[in-house]
Amino acid sequence: MTDTSKSELVFLPLGGVGEIGMNFALYGWGPPKQREWIVVDCGVTFPDAEHPGTDLILPDISFIKAQRDRLRAIVITHAHEDHYGALVDLWPELRVPVWATPFTAGLMEARRNEEPGTPKIPVTIFKAGDRFEIGPFAIEAVNVAHSIPEPVSLAITTPAGTVVHTADWKIDLAPTLGQPTDEARFRALGDKGVLALVCDSTNAMVEGESATETEVSQSLKKIIESAPGRVAITTFSSHVGRIRSIAQAARDAGRQVLVLGRSMKRVIDVSSELGYLQGLPEFLPEDRFGFIPRDKAVIICTGSQGEPRAALSKLARDEMKNVALSPGDIVIYSSRAIPGNEKAILTVKNALIEQGVRLIGEDEALVHVSGHPRRGNLRQMYAWTKPRIAVPVHGEAAHLVAHASLAAMAGVPDVASIRNGDMLRLWPGQPEIVDKVNHGRVFKDGKLVGTEDQMGIGERRKLSFVGHVAVNVVFDNRGEMAGEPDLVAIGLPERDGEGALIEEILQDAAGSAVHSIPRQRRKDLDLVAEAVRRAVRAAAEDVWGKKPVVTVFVTQ
Ligand SMILES: [Zn+2]
Ligand SMILES: [Zn+2]
Repeated sequence: MTDTSKSELVFLPLGGVGEIGMNFALYGWGPPKQREWIVVDCGVTFPDAEHPGTDLILPDISFIKAQRDRLRAIVITHAHEDHYGALVDLWPELRVPVWATPFTAGLMEARRNEEPGTPKIPVTIFKAGDRFEIGPFAIEAVNVAHSIPEPVSLAITTPAGTVVHTADWKIDLAPTLGQPTDEARFRALGDKGVLALVCDSTNAMVEGESATETEVSQSLKKIIESAPGRVAITTFSSHVGRIRSIAQAARDAGRQVLVLGRSMKRVIDVSSELGYLQGLPEFLPEDRFGFIPRDKAVIICTGSQGEPRAALSKLARDEMKNVALSPGDIVIYSSRAIPGNEKAILTVKNALIEQGVRLIGEDEALVHVSGHPRRGNLRQMYAWTKPRIAVPVHGEAAHLVAHASLAAMAGVPDVASIRNGDMLRLWPGQPEIVDKVNHGRVFKDGKLVGTEDQMGIGERRKLSFVGHVAVNVVFDNRGEMAGEPDLVAIGLPERDGEGALIEEILQDAAGSAVHSIPRQRRKDLDLVAEAVRRAVRAAAEDVWGKKPVVTVFVTQ
C-alpha cells in the first residue's frame, strides 16, 4: 500500500510552457518515489528553416517513459495539433489508455485510414460534462468555447483538492458551433474551492474581450453578398464553427461551396459524421468548379499559413488542375498569422495580388476572432474559479509574465512562474519547484525520431550554409600520389571572381598540401588527411570567403 500521508500533488510540463505549441503536461499524485501520473495533451510544434528537412518537433518524454508503469492515461483536451499531434509518434513509447472526445477520436481514425502504418491507439471516449476516474485522479470535463469542436477544460480532483486545467478556451456568448463556456460549472468549482488554475496565456497581452463567432459570421456574410466574383476563404482546417459560418453565409447569398485541401476535407468528413454540418447544403468537390458561375461560388481552402503545398498556395501559383481565380475575385484570410509564418503568408499574398485578386484580412474587416482568452476573459475566469494558485501556461515568456501579473492583480495568493521541465508541487504547502527533470525537443525526420544531434540537424544546417567538399587521395606503395587527388564539391559556387573553376582551385590546393609533406611522414595517413582538409578549407576561404565542410579519404 502507498503511504498517502506523504503524498504530494505535482504539475510538470514537458512542453508548452515558455512556448506556444507542443503541449504536454503531467500531473502526479503520491509520495515522491511512487507518484502515479496522467498526461494532459500530447502536441507537436512545427519546424522552421532552423531545422531543415524535419517534419515535426515533439517533446522529449524520456522522463515519463522511464516510469510508464505508473502512468495511468493520456487525456486529450481537443484536436489541435499542438495538443494531440504527437500522439501518433509518442503513444507507442507509452502504450497507456487515451481519453478523448468523439471529434478528436474521429480525426485520429480518419488520419489512420489515410496514413498506413499509423498505430491503432485505443481511445476511451468522453464528452463535456462527463466525470471519470483515472487512477487516483477524478476528472470532470467542462465545456469551453474555442476554435474547434468539443474543446474541454479538465477539473482534476485528488485528495489535495481540485486543479482546473483550462487548456485552450475563450468566452464566446454566441458561438456558431457548440455551447458557450460553462460559466456555471466554473463558478460552482470556484465555490467548492479550486487549488490551482493552470491557464492559457496566448492572448494575455491583449486587452479587452473578443468578438463572437456570430459577429464574424455576419461580417463574412456581408462580404460574400456584395462580392462581384468568386470569394475564396482560407481558415484553419479544424475550425468547423467557421466552416459552418461560411457555408451558411454562402447559402444565404445563393452561392455554392467548394472545398479545397486534404486536411479540410478530412475535418468535414468527420464533422458530417458527428452531425456538426447538419442543415447545410452539400459541399462540392473541386471538379465541379467549372460548372459554377463566378458570382455563385465560394471556395473554402487550406493554406492560411502560407504552407507551400496547401490549396491556396497552389491557387496563388495557378497550378490547380480544375480551379483558378480571376482578377476581381476576393480572397479572405479568416485566420491569424501564427508567429513565424509571416513571410510564407506574404509570398502567397503577393502572388494572389499579381493575379488581380483582392485580399481581405483581419485588419480590414471582422473576418476572424482568436480562440483564446483576452485579458478581460482571463479576469472573468479568475473571478469564477478563485484559485489559490495561478499557473500560467500555453505562452512564450512575454505572455506568461503578462498573465502572471494579471493573476496577481486579480487577487490570486500564489502565482507560479515555471518553464518546461519544472516540477511544481501544488500541495501540500506553498507552491514550490521541487525538481527539474529532463525535457527538450525531439525531431520527426522522415521515418525516424531523435534529438538534434542524433538526427544530424546541426550538421545539416551547417551544410546548407557552406556546402561540402569530398577529397580522395591515393598513394602507391612508394608514398607517391597515384595521380592528382579526386575532389567533388557540393553546394559551392562553380567559379571564383576571376572565372576560374573552384573545384580545380581546391584540387590544386589539396595536391600542393600533399606534396609539401615529406615522403617519410606520408605514412601517417591521418596527418595527410588533416593537412589536406586545412589546405582545402583555406583555399576556399581565399576565393569564396567561406569555409566548406571538407571530408578527406586517404588510401594506400
Ligand atoms: Zn487549441
Ligand atoms: Zn493550443
